[in-house]
Amino acid sequence: MDATTTPATKVATVKLLIGGKFVESKTTEWRDIVNPATQQVLAKVPFATQDEVDAAVASGKEAFKTWRKTAIGARARIFLKYQQLIREHMGELAAILTAEQGKTLPDAEGDVFRGLEVVEHAAGIGNLQLGEFANNVAGGVDTYSVLQPLGVCAGITPFNFPAMIPLWMFPMAIVTGNTFVLKPSEQDPMVTMRLCELAIEAGIPPGVLNVVHGGEAVVNAICDHKDIKAISFVGSTKVGTHVYNRASLAGKRVQCMMGAKNHAIVMPDANKEQTLNALAGAAFGAAGQRCMAVSVAVLVGDARNWVPDLVEKAKTLKVGAGTEKGVDVGPLVSCAAFDRVTGLIERGVADGATLALDGRKPTVPGYEKGNFVGPTVFADVKPGMSIYEQEIFGPVLCLVGADNIDDAIELINANPNGNGTAIFTQSGAAARRFQEDIDVGQVGINVPIPVPVPMFSFTGSRASKLGDLGPYGKQVVLFYTQTKTVTSRWFDDSTVSHGVNTTISLK
Ligand code: NAD
Repeated sequence: MDATTTPATKVATVKLLIGGKFVESKTTEWRDIVNPATQQVLAKVPFATQDEVDAAVASGKEAFKTWRKTAIGARARIFLKYQQLIREHMGELAAILTAEQGKTLPDAEGDVFRGLEVVEHAAGIGNLQLGEFANNVAGGVDTYSVLQPLGVCAGITPFNFPAMIPLWMFPMAIVTGNTFVLKPSEQDPMVTMRLCELAIEAGIPPGVLNVVHGGEAVVNAICDHKDIKAISFVGSTKVGTHVYNRASLAGKRVQCMMGAKNHAIVMPDANKEQTLNALAGAAFGAAGQRCMAVSVAVLVGDARNWVPDLVEKAKTLKVGAGTEKGVDVGPLVSCAAFDRVTGLIERGVADGATLALDGRKPTVPGYEKGNFVGPTVFADVKPGMSIYEQEIFGPVLCLVGADNIDDAIELINANPNGNGTAIFTQSGAAARRFQEDIDVGQVGINVPIPVPVPMFSFTGSRASKLGDLGPYGKQVVLFYTQTKTVTSRWFDDSTVSHGVNTTISLK
């Protein structure tokens, strides 16, 4: 089971970051951070007190007074330095991430890299936070807009991308002139903290970036705090909906990126080998613990005959500790996740789906205590079954049949979630039809995990997203700023007065 606390006093403790200093929490509530391949306790993370949350926000509020007026070039240069530091520490960051989260080392580097891309984008803020200017909107009158930072903003992040998702948030919030309070996942905060140390080393001034740890109570304290202006949340739909409602009620700007059930349509004309490879990578990579993982493949027409090929492809993947060479599928993040995923596999069998490949109880020599589940494939899955209705968040692929593309699109649009989707086809017409009619945020065409690069914004439809603006890309500049429009007229001494204007028109 999940460790909750270990009495050993020698275990390292994860620090808070308040006012530019990494400090020990005074809390009495701690949780173990556990290596999911070995169950070794790596460190303890504090559940911060209300006073500590208040201190983090107060430090952000104080720092905002000067940071908001810091030259845009000075802000940009910090992120130029930061991207360099992240590159230099890539191997170390990936090793920390793999130890606490379980994903393979190459995938951990990918996690850091996708966040690094946002840091690089942040360094280009000079071109992103531009206002608009209209000359002579009336006689001698100009109107212009400026995008001003909001104040203290906050971010709450999930366990599955402990590098990328914090990096979606604080670089763009800070580079636009805000200060930030980050609440990382309590399951794997160590790589996030290393990234914060590097951010401080890059020159982020004291109080501009703060970190508190914890669970529900700390998240609620952030939602309720009167001095926090905006919150970015990424995590499950249940928690995200709670955060959205609570923080919106408290008058904050909120964006929540939430749960998923991502379908991929496989048309019979698709390139078979490429498609099988793509599906196996997207369903089982990161042990299925990606919000963009493909968890349902809709096999259209003759593609329904591809089940045995898909099973054979899934069997080629190697299950093992993320640190071992050649491993494709690491352990699930926790014993609780292991119990949930294996429980859902049992439910799938009980509900009548065909277990075409059973990944339970893989042999992983040397790591007998790890939370391993190998690639698992269910055929004949139908809406209504638990494995179809729930986000499994494990290496389990459900296969559903459809007669044609219309039925496949209808099935996907009827699912409550709208995070990611993909189509595999050689037909431009089918791909275009799909792109037009599918109600899902991220759409891939022969691309299984279409996470947008940072000049675009991550998005989502229906139950996968709340709030209008997404994290990173152009949208996040608007999320973290307030638009102000200025209308100005300057008189010189020779200007002839036209008298009193009692209308709303500009003359
Ligand atoms: P989670 O919702 O359990 O946790 C997310 C954050 O909320 C954590 O920081 C956690 O401490 C906090 N939290 C947990 N329970 C809480 C509660 N009762 N009240 C207040 N705060 C609480 O999510 P997770 O298990 O860490 O991450 C997996 C989920 O995140 C999946 O559903 C996945 O699809 C989703 N996700 C979505 C995206 C996206 O961009 N749409 C990206 C990554 C992950």
